[in-house]
Amino acid sequence: MMHHKTRVRFAPSPTGPLHIGGVRTALYNYLFARQQGGDFILRIEDTDSSRFVPGAEEYIRETFDWLGLQFDESPAAGGACGPYKQSQRKEIYKQYVQRLLDRGAAYIAFDTPEELETKRTETANFQYDASTRDKMRNSLSLTEEETQALIKSGTQYVVRIKIEPGREIVVNDMIRGRVTVNSSTLDDKVIYKSADELPTYHLANVVDDHLMEITHVIRGEEWLPSAPLHVWLYGSLDWDDGMPQFAHLPLLLKPEGNGKLSKRDGDRLGFPVFPLQWTDPKTGETSSGYRESGYLPEAVINFLALLGWNPGTEQEIFSMDELITLFSFDRASKSGAKFDVEKAKWFNHKYIGQMPDRDLAELFMPVLREKEISASIGKVEKAVGLIKERVHFISELWEQTSFFFAAPEAYDEKTVRKRWKSDTPEHMRRLTALIAEMDDFSAEHQEKTVMDWILRNQLHTGNVMNAFRLAIVGAGKGPHIFDITALIGREETLRRLERAVTSLEKTDGKH
Ligand code: GLU
Repeated sequence: MMHHKTRVRFAPSPTGPLHIGGVRTALYNYLFARQQGGDFILRIEDTDSSRFVPGAEEYIRETFDWLGLQFDESPAAGGACGPYKQSQRKEIYKQYVQRLLDRGAAYIAFDTPEELETKRTETANFQYDASTRDKMRNSLSLTEEETQALIKSGTQYVVRIKIEPGREIVVNDMIRGRVTVNSSTLDDKVIYKSADELPTYHLANVVDDHLMEITHVIRGEEWLPSAPLHVWLYGSLDWDDGMPQFAHLPLLLKPEGNGKLSKRDGDRLGFPVFPLQWTDPKTGETSSGYRESGYLPEAVINFLALLGWNPGTEQEIFSMDELITLFSFDRASKSGAKFDVEKAKWFNHKYIGQMPDRDLAELFMPVLREKEISASIGKVEKAVGLIKERVHFISELWEQTSFFFAAPEAYDEKTVRKRWKSDTPEHMRRLTALIAEMDDFSAEHQEKTVMDWILRNQLHTGNVMNAFRLAIVGAGKGPHIFDITALIGREETLRRLERAVTSLEKTDGKH
């Protein structure tokens, strides 16, 4: 057996925004390629011009830039097997269409769409195959002269693959094992159309996988029904020994588990099914994306890696290097993977929590600027460091940190009712005096001094501390109180205490 370098490809059709399931397919290709020291190729399958959507190809490029999944060969990067856009490979496909015709493995058919429609209404479950082809208008039922005359007169035609009935077709799938199909169940699929001089998906896909020396075809389960035809095409082109290994990945299912995950599920349950935001160029309708919804690319990758594969351990957080090392088709599941947006949020939460404070602060700075808050990156870094383990999205940072940058404008009523007692103003005044005299304003020193003072005066720790927090934050939330005061500084702490006493003096939670 020859040893080929592993080469895999991601082969999207630019018919709209890439579905998140397509991103998972690309990721598995990437992981496998990197693990095997192989090549990861992007091929744009755009032979169906009727389904072309402007912007879709750029969208694909932007998605992988964002995720940091780099292609070794692609329309943009080039490579030895280019061009990587099928619409630019017309002449290549024509040679192979001719080869199939010459070998008698394919034939020319002239049936008009109307004629085919009539057949379909006449015959239930009509299939264009060995049992019907001699009753149709094609180069097998017509004489050579008739066929040539029709072509010369400019009659449009298609080329169909000639499937011999009663043969066993074997698809070896790395996930599903050996799948056998009887060729009688297949129809004579159209592989080429004279009207646009382009092959259909099936032929272009097989020819390119061969010419691009693809060793493994890793794609979504929806392509499994096409695999027997592709195997047949390999045989007809006499390429059997170069046939790639197949791996058909399980579907991504609705969160409830019944049926394929759709855009409607995303709309219905409020989560994106696309990696990036997408505006439909025809309708102007915008669909949300993971990027715009505040997901980190690393979190999306980790989340997708586990939708259809598992490491066999309890580990859930994986770096890219770990995924590359551990990924295997042995651990890819055969059954569909239920989409769980709560899990996606959990991963994002974990990744934000792991992020260096500096990087997180840099993502947060523009939000602060928009709110016309000027704060040094150093302060922002400390603030996000204190709360990063509490958020799921960058967009939640402001709500969790606003009190570091601005004094409370109001005091949460419920907290006031519960925490501000008749003796609180007196305690807060004394606390103010204590703080004013502290020589060291570090969180540790503040804490020690305040706790000693509470103990000495036999005050109720909870009463004092809760009221203190209310004065500083405006509510009963936030990280360790002395971390907050240390960061906002002594002056600001004193100002907030005084302001709380003045505005809440008359309040007494008891009535
Ligand atoms: N163009 C097909 C798609 O859009 C590719 C299927 C395959 O990977 O063979 O999914």
